[in-house]
Order: sequence, then C-alpha cells, then structure tokens
Amino acid sequence: MIRLTPPPVIELTYGQYQGWNCCYCNSSLAGGGLPAGTSRGNSGAHHLDINVYACPPCTAARRPEGADQ
Ligand SMILES: [Zn+2]
Repeated sequence: MIRLTPPPVIELTYGQYQGWNCCYCNSSLAGGGLPAGTSRGNSGAHHLDINVYACPPCTAARRPEGADQ
C-alpha cells in the first residue's frame, strides 16, 4: 500500500532527514526533489518536525486523481 504521508522522523535515514534522499523510496534527489510535506517527530517536549522531499515518481504516485488538471 502506498504511503500517502511522509514517514515520521524516527524512520528517516540520515540522507532523508537532510533532504538528500526521497523520504519514500530513499533514492537520491541530486536531480531535484519535490516538497513532500512534513515529517513528524519529537524528543521529550521538543518538536522536531521537518520538511522532507520526494522524487518525481513517488510524488506522481501520491497525486490525488485529477489533481494535475
Ligand atoms: Zn521516491
């Protein structure tokens, strides 16, 4: 099943956390990533939400039906 929202921060790899890799499939975003939304995370009372990025194929796979019109 396709995950529609970015995984939580604790599941991200270092590359995904840094925005270097797709947050869904972990492929390199050297060719340009697309904003994928917010990965949720926290440590104690500190919120560690970060913006993550995805590759074009993963972004297209999650685009709602008809949203590209
Ligand atoms: Zn991907």
